Amino acid sequence: DNPLLSSTRQVEDADAALRPKSLDEFVGQAAAKDNLRVFIESARQRREAMDHVLFFGPPGLGKTTLAQIVARELGVGFRATSGPVIAKAGDLAALLTNLEEGDVLFIDEIHRLNPQVEEVLYPAMEDRALDLIIGEGPSARSVRIDLPPFTLVGATTRQGLLTTPLRDRFGIPVRLNFYTEQELERVVTRGAGLLGIGIEPAGAREIARRSRGTPRIAGRLLRRVRDFAHVEGHAAITQSQADSALTRLEVDNLGLDAMDRRYLTMIAEFYNGGPVGVETLAAGLSEPRDTIEDVIEPYLIQLGLVARTARGRCLNARAWQHLGLAPPAGNQG
Ligand code: ADP
Repeated sequence: DNPLLSSTRQVEDADAALRPKSLDEFVGQAAAKDNLRVFIESARQRREAMDHVLFFGPPGLGKTTLAQIVARELGVGFRATSGPVIAKAGDLAALLTNLEEGDVLFIDEIHRLNPQVEEVLYPAMEDRALDLIIGEGPSARSVRIDLPPFTLVGATTRQGLLTTPLRDRFGIPVRLNFYTEQELERVVTRGAGLLGIGIEPAGAREIARRSRGTPRIAGRLLRRVRDFAHVEGHAAITQSQADSALTRLEVDNLGLDAMDRRYLTMIAEFYNGGPVGVETLAAGLSEPRDTIEDVIEPYLIQLGLVARTARGRCLNARAWQHLGLAPPAGNQG
């Protein structure tokens, strides 16, 4: 087994059971799906590899799932790896030369490729070729190796994290957005069916409402609520049962978890509601800056609790309300 290929497989085993297998089963993201359908169909008819795709958006919104679906619907092989796992240019060269015609190569966290590795990708994406240097010193020469046609599918949390030359080589950039409550209700109901648990519509709605707009979280909360229901001897998940289980899991009525509340409380109590720089928050919370920007903040901004300004992060009135605190005098949020 190639160790470079195993990384994404192991990440969230529990996710696998709930993964949709086709575009029709994939809930939400209507615009992205409609476009992908056209590109897949066109590639199939032309019997050519589909153009390279970049999925970007917060974690857990379905980037890996869509990459697998694209391969399945194209009827080609799927290989998965991730940016930080590919240490050397030679590692990527080995992956690329082992592809079969038309394959999808999925690179998660593609913004974390090191620059030498990224250099190898440019001709691979553009001309489907590898430029290898053979030998050393004055006798070194470059040889070009043709690669089979393939589709690179990259995933990243923010499009802006990619270097411009890499970003420019993706013909199909696709942004994934947070899901609506209705969409997540469908994700939860479908998940309950797959897990073989009864759930009332109001129970599904309660879990959906508190899932941070994110299917991965919806699936995780569903499994935890199921555990409580099971142990407490309930035949089906009801709204009140979901509510009490989620409260015990410290997921509040906006769907925020303990980390979200620590973030908000820190800005409120230490920085008077802001503005405060992200580096300062990262140090105060002992979390990497990337986690703050890619995991914590997008949903808080979407809810209108926090604003990113040129001078730093600021709490909005809604955040003070949610924390049950009075904003300082002179701070209108
Ligand atoms: P990402 O790669 O963006 O971090 P994943 O593709 O790994 O996210 O998705 C996380 C989990 O959420 C998957 O296991 C899948 O079960 C579920 N999921 C994601 N998108 C959807 C969707 N549109 N419909 C149903 N389930 C989904």
